[in-house]
Amino acid sequence: MNDLIFAANWKMHYGPEATDAFFDAFLSNYTPETDRSVWFFPPAVSLAATVRRMRGQVDIIAGVQNVHWEPKGAFTGETSVSMAVESGAKAALVGHSERRHVFGETDEETGKKVRAVLDAGITPVFCVGEKIEERKRGAARDVVNRQLSVLDGLDGDTLPEIVIAYEPVWAIGTGLNATPEDAAQMHGEIRTWFEAHGAGGEKCRILYGGSVKPENAASLVAESEINGVLVGGASLDPESWASIVRAGLD
Ligand code: PEP
Repeated sequence: MNDLIFAANWKMHYGPEATDAFFDAFLSNYTPETDRSVWFFPPAVSLAATVRRMRGQVDIIAGVQNVHWEPKGAFTGETSVSMAVESGAKAALVGHSERRHVFGETDEETGKKVRAVLDAGITPVFCVGEKIEERKRGAARDVVNRQLSVLDGLDGDTLPEIVIAYEPVWAIGTGLNATPEDAAQMHGEIRTWFEAHGAGGEKCRILYGGSVKPENAASLVAESEINGVLVGGASLDPESWASIVRAGLD
């Protein structure tokens, strides 16, 4: 497994044609490196185009931004995990802050989604993070622990299969990133949670997300607590994304 993960969350941007254009530009600037992998979370309708363009690249994988926990049924607009897998997904975001705070996804639902993704044998990237008012009143750690508590009951061998993305809500799309030290501190707390639940904290992979840009990516991934980044806005520009995925190398 490559150590550092650079994950691009395209949110509701780029249909199949724009995806093709992105990869034309990105792949001409991209050189694989043995210490890192690149994960793309395009909109579900662009997953097939993404998978086609990364064929032959061992260190790039694709996933979906959301899944339903049921295998099939009358759930208009939803995507099951098995459908995502059939289309080439190797990972799925769960509990992204926009799912939680724009679409009202509950903790309970995130727990069911993580289990469905694990059952399908692909990697959940489970997003946690506090809002600004929660941070200001000193409740950031409690909020993150509450969000993590939906993983209670998973054993110490299963927990490290989950990638955690710590994304403080106040840092997402705002230009205000957590300092590398603040992010590393929360990552340490998350590792402690994993240890308390029987999973060696050193095995657990924790990404930071929130206004990561070419200018701040290197200082974030230089922290030993930070195993990579989950990036929204700056992953949409092929040049800026190619620069982020080289963070710390140049
Ligand atoms: C995200 O969507 O997960 C994210 C971190 O967005 P941005 O990088 O734009 O803050």
